Amino acid sequence: MEIILILGLFPINLLSRFRIAMSKNILHLDLDTFFVSVERLLDSRLKGKPILVGGLSDRGVVAACSYETRSYGVHSGMPMKMAKELCPEAIRIKGNAGTYSKHSDLVTEIIKEDVPLFEKSSIDEFYADLTGMDRFFGSYKYASELRKKIISNTGLPISFGLSGNKVVSKVATGEAKPNNQLKIDYGLEKTFLAPLSIKKIPMVGDKTYQKLRNLGLRHVRTVQEMPIDVMQRVLGKNGETIWKRANGIDSSPVIPFCERKSISTERTFDKDTIDVVKLRGILIAMTENLAYQLRRGEKLTACIAVKIRYSDFNTYTKQARIPYTSADHILIAKILELFKSLYNRRLLVRLIGVRFTHLVSGNYQINLFEDTEEALSLYRAMDDIRKRYGDKSVLRAVAMGSKTIGRMQNPFNGQPPIVLAHRKQ
Ligand SMILES: [Mg+2]
Repeated sequence: MEIILILGLFPINLLSRFRIAMSKNILHLDLDTFFVSVERLLDSRLKGKPILVGGLSDRGVVAACSYETRSYGVHSGMPMKMAKELCPEAIRIKGNAGTYSKHSDLVTEIIKEDVPLFEKSSIDEFYADLTGMDRFFGSYKYASELRKKIISNTGLPISFGLSGNKVVSKVATGEAKPNNQLKIDYGLEKTFLAPLSIKKIPMVGDKTYQKLRNLGLRHVRTVQEMPIDVMQRVLGKNGETIWKRANGIDSSPVIPFCERKSISTERTFDKDTIDVVKLRGILIAMTENLAYQLRRGEKLTACIAVKIRYSDFNTYTKQARIPYTSADHILIAKILELFKSLYNRRLLVRLIGVRFTHLVSGNYQINLFEDTEEALSLYRAMDDIRKRYGDKSVLRAVAMGSKTIGRMQNPFNGQPPIVLAHRKQ
């Protein structure tokens, strides 16, 4: 009763100040043409030159390209052959996922030192919640100093956007680039977004862009002026979100970066086993399945572990840091390596398991340096089949023989696929 009375007596200007105090200060940081910048760090002769990073064969794919190539119409994800035709003078470099992962971790460590609440949303992108810090330092000043520190400690160019929410900050970073910063003040979000192309709204991909263009929409302003229910009718639930984003409305939280963010699977045997072929087959099946979960969630892992429990209940785990990946063939090889060094007691095994941690968002473009477009298409095709017919509809022959994971059935014997047991998010 007392509290209500006090609030009732609060002067209006204090109430509005309270509201402002409750507003958030969300920072979005994005390393500029990250893979290219790392290459330039390693070889300064590459500075100012047009650079393509990716698979070097004609069937390879562009994983990253420098600003100098963009005026030629080059973009990432494009076949290397086409990029070469568009920009023949470009220097082509086969990337190295391990090197990029290391530099990404370096930046992460600097942010971790200075910001208590941050999210690593991909290998080269971060969100930080600076709410509350403004009282002491001023968020913009704080963000500027953090950016300066990253640049001077790592030598990598990075841009940021600062505003009241993630969406507006991300768009602001895009507008600030290359190697710059931009702050959007409270109340100016709509004005800032209005003249931009609708393509700049996060989540407007090629398909949605075409749909919106067919409706005659080109600039964010037109979406802002449209009634929300028209957007809902045309694009369903997405229409509502896009309308909100166009109006600078977003309440998604910064998800704390956590080393233990993981997916894992394990299996306890009905009867303890010493059959190494069988154990390896199960590990391959587990890894294949978890890798698919990663790709489906557009995640990459940078730390993998194998766990063994012997019949005497002693449990051992071995883990290894790896370059960010979601590619089966890389993960399986590493998991088998770990197993080989871990399983040295020749005792009966009661349980085995696989765990992926240090998850960040990202697609497997990062592994395309060695692979061709065909390899990418093969993964896509296999994952499409899994999406339609279940996790277990496509597998490596060696994993199929083990017929284990989640009482997995041979996909060709007519049994419906069974969802993997023990799966933890
Ligand atoms: Mg970037």
